[in-house]
Amino acid sequence: MKVIILIGPPGSGKGTQAELLAEKLGLFYFETSKIGEAKLKQAKKGDCVVIDGQKYSLAQEKKLSEKGILWTPAVVAFWVKQEIEKLANQGKSLLLVGSPRTLYEGKELIPLLKKLYDPKNIQIILIKLSKEQTIWRNTRRRTCSECRRPIFPSEETKKLTQCPKCGAKLVVREDDKKENIKVRLKEYEERTKPLIEYFKEEGLKIKEVEGEQSIEDVHKDILEVVG
Ligand SMILES: [Zn+2]
Repeated sequence: MKVIILIGPPGSGKGTQAELLAEKLGLFYFETSKIGEAKLKQAKKGDCVVIDGQKYSLAQEKKLSEKGILWTPAVVAFWVKQEIEKLANQGKSLLLVGSPRTLYEGKELIPLLKKLYDPKNIQIILIKLSKEQTIWRNTRRRTCSECRRPIFPSEETKKLTQCPKCGAKLVVREDDKKENIKVRLKEYEERTKPLIEYFKEEGLKIKEVEGEQSIEDVHKDILEVVG
């Protein structure tokens, strides 16, 4: 049983690469945003989660993500830990995307993963992308209104009006508006990047891959570093 954690700035293609990698290696694709969005979608007015006696409003969490701000780390860690325990008990190998995303979440999650999986089998892959590319790609991104598949700008996707996977309408997400991308990028720089040092302190293997290439080439590079 193994765990691969994919990290990288918004627009680095984590989701697309995760789909390819999960299929190739038979991993369970664990997508934190999907879990969180489902929880927020089901939430009724006034719903809260209570963690260690503290209440967190789900309506408030929804507002954060619309502005490009990460969900409250305690809430995300709570959701993710629950799911991971279930999957580990089922003997699944995991591909984590979107977790951990903050130092707080990392400190909650990594010890749990090390307990459930052999630490030698936990690998981190960092997809690198420049700030300019991050902004360029995200301001031109459209997303499927149903299956949430992101469509990044390219010659092949230019004329698309419907999702190539499920046929639903493509929309521009609230958090892809330019001001919000800048917030997301800042969140990545200030809150996600410090995790890299933490992973090293924890003795985990980190491999870097250049994200500014075609989808196929990034995929090839990932397969090479995964070994
Ligand atoms: Zn779709």
